[in-house]
This record gives sequence, structure tokens and C-alpha cells, in this order.
Amino acid sequence: MQYYKPVIKEFTLAEKNEKNGLFQFIMELADGSKCRIFYSKNPDWKATHIARLNVTPCPVCKKDFICNCMEKFLDVLDQQIKDRELFQAALAK
Ligand SMILES: [Zn+2]
Repeated sequence: MQYYKPVIKEFTLAEKNEKNGLFQFIMELADGSKCRIFYSKNPDWKATHIARLNVTPCPVCKKDFICNCMEKFLDVLDQQIKDRELFQAALAK
């Protein structure tokens, strides 16, 4: 499973709640997978959860129903989002 390296292609805001600092973004990965990623902004951006949208089979286990594979990549994706400043771009739209 270590071989899988998700690369974010699109990152768009899905829902935001400024009051409680909870945000949801839709991510499209280079392999065509789509995920919803949940963030808590207070006090700092922290990825709390990720759910794959069942539009394509899971890129890791190849199943086309709910699995938890993407949870293992939460840190990798979070780092990529921060390195590429994707929050700023998504929130500016
Ligand atoms: Zn899977």
C-alpha cells in the first residue's frame, strides 16, 4: 500500500461554517478518484476526516464500495494541501 501516492488535481470548497470553523472540500486526484476532506480551522487548519466519493473504484484496494483506505493518506494529503496553499486558492473563489 506504500506505493500509492495521491496527487491532488482539483481542490474546491464544498461547505464552510465560519462559526464553528468546520470546512469541507472536494478533492479530485490525478487518478480520477474524488474525496471529501473535512477540516477544522480552529485554532489551526487540521484535517479530521476523509471520505472517498464512490464515483470510481478505490485506487488502493480497487473496491467500489466504502472503504477506509484514504484515511491512511490523510497526513500526506494534508501536507500537500498546505505546501501548495490550496486553502487560499479554494477560499478565494
Ligand atoms: Zn480502498
